[in-house]
Amino acid sequence: MTKIMLVHPEISRGKYNFAGVIENEPLELEYISRMLKDNGFEVMIWDGQVEKEPLKAALESFSPDYFYVCGRTRQENFMKEYARLAKEICGGSIVTIAGGVHVQKCYERFYEPYIDYILTTFDIFKLLDIIRQAPREKNHGICYQNKDGKFVCNPPKPFDIKALPTPDREYFYSHPNNYRYLELAPCAHVRTAYCCPFRCAFCYRNSLNCGVYSRRKVDDVVREIAEINCENIYFIDDDFLWDREYIAEFIRLVREKGIRRKYVCYGRADFIAENPDIIKALGEIGFYYILTGLEATDDKRLARYRKKTTADVNIKAVEITREAGINIMGMFIVDLDFSPADFSKLYRFIKAHGIRHTAISIFTPEINSSLYKKFKNRLITDDPACWDYLHVVAKPYKMSVSLYYFFYHILVARLFLKGMREGIYDFIDYPFYLKSIFKNMFRFGGNKENEK
Ligand code: SF4
Repeated sequence: MTKIMLVHPEISRGKYNFAGVIENEPLELEYISRMLKDNGFEVMIWDGQVEKEPLKAALESFSPDYFYVCGRTRQENFMKEYARLAKEICGGSIVTIAGGVHVQKCYERFYEPYIDYILTTFDIFKLLDIIRQAPREKNHGICYQNKDGKFVCNPPKPFDIKALPTPDREYFYSHPNNYRYLELAPCAHVRTAYCCPFRCAFCYRNSLNCGVYSRRKVDDVVREIAEINCENIYFIDDDFLWDREYIAEFIRLVREKGIRRKYVCYGRADFIAENPDIIKALGEIGFYYILTGLEATDDKRLARYRKKTTADVNIKAVEITREAGINIMGMFIVDLDFSPADFSKLYRFIKAHGIRHTAISIFTPEINSSLYKKFKNRLITDDPACWDYLHVVAKPYKMSVSLYYFFYHILVARLFLKGMREGIYDFIDYPFYLKSIFKNMFRFGGNKENEK
């Protein structure tokens, strides 16, 4: 029987890797696994976030015919290392394939002799075409090496998410102590859509799936949730809350079927502010976290980000979620033009509006996005591992890289201590994270590599 290994590398090899805090179910691999098993293939999933057995040993014992690896930008080095390892361990006859979100946007970075195919589409059925040796020419979304070793790339087409099978969650269920979102553990991922209908200036997610938003039917989503044997559900769509009618129908069906779960989802502040009745109903059916891109404290910056919200809308959204008994996770950007005062202002805004949960991202132009071209001359590193929104990848405007890191870590430490006082992170190892934050305050800042 043809054997296929599906691999998702670890996030980082450092200790500061969010293990035990946020661990994401490898949903993309589980969709592929179901499709392949339904077609009679033998499948093995290996997820570097949770595996104890090294990949080398897994390759030796499973001895796959095909090797598929996917990941985010920050995992690019690991993806390449693993594809190379697959060739070394299993010999030249193994077929290596790279796919996933990062590859879709940056496929040329994977033109490597040890990678045979690159998938630039969400269409997982293209893997079947590769395995069944369907014609490669003009096969949309498949890049391949021709007989001269040169890559030929067929552009992708938008994929209709409704064609996806129900994920094979065997791997998820066999790791009951992994896969969590903060204190919600274990936490299963559910996807209802690809792409995002909005066009925020700093974000590349809206260009995925050829920029075409594709959504599943709501009754199919509710059926899937009812079948998942897990108390916590994380909707990993870029924006779950954008269509009032869709969400109202979701609430109705969940109530009708008597489904009891805790939910996490992404949702925009303007939707929350305009639909307090829906948010209240979401709180009643179990919504626990709404992750909201509040991004900035002032209208000028929000307009520059083309966020289509204002600071007042953000504040209203915070109040409405609080009244509904839902935790808002306020996501903010610390921009490259921040002054020391801007870092303090952000902390004061968060404190003044009682935002208990926060996630702070350093402004990062995604590789190969239009922003990347704009910031090309300011880049201070080309290591994809730094594209994790925790590293400065482009030169700040108002201070040195060292000083920028210093103020960033002061902000992170203040928010962390605030969270500690409020008891929101009681499930994590406080001393370890505090030590890491204070160490980074000086280590990142003193890193000469960043001073280039
Ligand atoms: S920031 Fe959110 S709402 Fe804006 S384009 Fe990206 S995913 Fe969509």
